[in-house]
Amino acid sequence: RSTIVSSESQVRADDRAHVFHSWSAQGLIDPLPIERALGSHFWDYQGRRYLDFSSQLVNINIGHQHPRLVAAIQEQAAKLCTIQPAFANDKRGEAARMIAEIAPDGLNKVFFTNGGAEANENAIRMARLHTGRHKVLSTYRSYHGSTATAITATGDPRRWPNEPVAIGVVHFWGPYPYRSPFHSDSPEQETRRALAHLRDTVVFEGPATIAAILIETVVGTNGILVPPPGYLAGVREICDEFGIVFIADEVMAGFGRCGEWFAIDHWGVTPDLITFAKGVNSGYLPLGGVVIADEIAETFRERPFPGGLTYSGHPLACASAVASMQIFKEEGIVEHARALGEDVIGPELAILAEKHPSVGEVRGLGVFWAIELVTDREARTPLVPFNAAGPAAAPMNAVAAACKERGLWPFVHFNRLHVVPPCTITEAELREGLAILDEALTVADGFYTA
Ligand code: PLP
Repeated sequence: RSTIVSSESQVRADDRAHVFHSWSAQGLIDPLPIERALGSHFWDYQGRRYLDFSSQLVNINIGHQHPRLVAAIQEQAAKLCTIQPAFANDKRGEAARMIAEIAPDGLNKVFFTNGGAEANENAIRMARLHTGRHKVLSTYRSYHGSTATAITATGDPRRWPNEPVAIGVVHFWGPYPYRSPFHSDSPEQETRRALAHLRDTVVFEGPATIAAILIETVVGTNGILVPPPGYLAGVREICDEFGIVFIADEVMAGFGRCGEWFAIDHWGVTPDLITFAKGVNSGYLPLGGVVIADEIAETFRERPFPGGLTYSGHPLACASAVASMQIFKEEGIVEHARALGEDVIGPELAILAEKHPSVGEVRGLGVFWAIELVTDREARTPLVPFNAAGPAAAPMNAVAAACKERGLWPFVHFNRLHVVPPCTITEAELREGLAILDEALTVADGFYTA
């Protein structure tokens, strides 16, 4: 039997027969076969081209098939594909050094993983061993990955069918001015109340039981929630007061997405551990990790760190991270992402918000933006309910379909459209995509009831 896959029908047949897909009821999905990708676009087998406003899973920060990144991987593959983690290796060391150089001062070591969930899993393990405490505090409206502790730390419905998994995780509310859990009416009030709530949570959980506070620096999938001024500095203070490890999850927000190397650079705050993945090498190979403060690394100077992975610091993945960071520097990609946010996405989304009644709020930074859709601006009623699925999600599905028909691949979550193209997207491509969004928002306006 031929194993050459040449046609769309063969790709579809193999997929339907043998691929077990993430997060899905296997009989209710029909994955679109994709043939190729380049830059900000990908193509299906019908030759239809899609402008990738999702960066796949918000990870192709450098764009698809960057020729220099592909070449660097080929070069490394010809030299040394893999060597186990106990050896020293040039690309592994170089990647770790380059990451330490862009991280805040005092974070100088990197533990490599295959992705984001494992990064959070190991960051929590480090915090627990460093403090001798067991609890982890994380927020509602968060995603931290789908391994045991990471999914338990997650504050969205993906956790529910996985419970009970890990012990010792407590959820609290983070700031979200547009739908304030604290009923605040200004960002300043939101910061004050969110910090008071976090401090109360720490005090009542028992500070001596809490190893870590784990937060997404800018919450990603759960809404592109940019922390209001002073919030992250306040979290740092609470951690210092009670000897708690501050873990910043930058799996989605890091490596240019927010117009900085690390999103936390916006606020000049230094966490104890930073977890990363996705944008570090744009997923050309699986890679993630934890950047570790000197004080925590010191805990494991004489005492072994009880964790590891066959592919920790995989040379091919590390070579791609080195090349990707070099390309970012030489092509000014972080600066480009920041400028696109300030000069194009922010102003253009503000115009769309003026024009379309269904737009309740737009927010974001860099190439990391959300459009929150509502049926009533005054009441802020979401266009579809929280955790909507099936028929309840129909209005958002209609908006997504309007984008796809026009050649734009959107990122949709509950009642939000996220504008998360590659950091390398050109201004012309970006404007083309925003014009399509403008048309698709007319579909959302059709559901407006106020
Ligand atoms: N943390 C955040 C903020 C994420 O967005 C994700 C994935 O979307 C993860 C962790 C998990 O990363 P991975 O899917 O690589 O395990």
